[in-house]
Amino acid sequence: MADYGILVDYEWCTGCHTCEVACQMEHKLPVGQFGMKVAEIGPWEYGDGKWQYAYLPAPTDQCDFCAERLSAGKQPTCVHHCQAECLKFGPVDELARELGKKRKQVLFRN
Ligand code: SF4
Ligand code: SF4
Repeated sequence: MADYGILVDYEWCTGCHTCEVACQMEHKLPVGQFGMKVAEIGPWEYGDGKWQYAYLPAPTDQCDFCAERLSAGKQPTCVHHCQAECLKFGPVDELARELGKKRKQVLFRN
């Protein structure tokens, strides 16, 4: 059985938090607990009008890769609900190949 992960293309993440909320609802998590947490990195200016401003969704230790949905043949709910298509679920070795193709991506494995 392959190891699985989530590849995040955070170049296109709008910080909408839909993945966070969809995960909370799917897993009936109490307020203040998250399976996915969107971090805000910036904004700050670092010269010549350049700005650091990014959002980075990160699975937490409470992420189980939506085991129930997977066993029903569905995608994880965060992946399904991200309208910007920033999130991709799959075998780690396949996602690692995708990782090499463009900047501003991270690969999470649990
Ligand atoms: S990963 Fe997608 S759903 Fe989550 S905050 Fe970014 S754009 Fe929104
Ligand atoms: S894979 Fe499922 S459990 Fe993990 S962050 Fe996404 S929605 Fe939450």
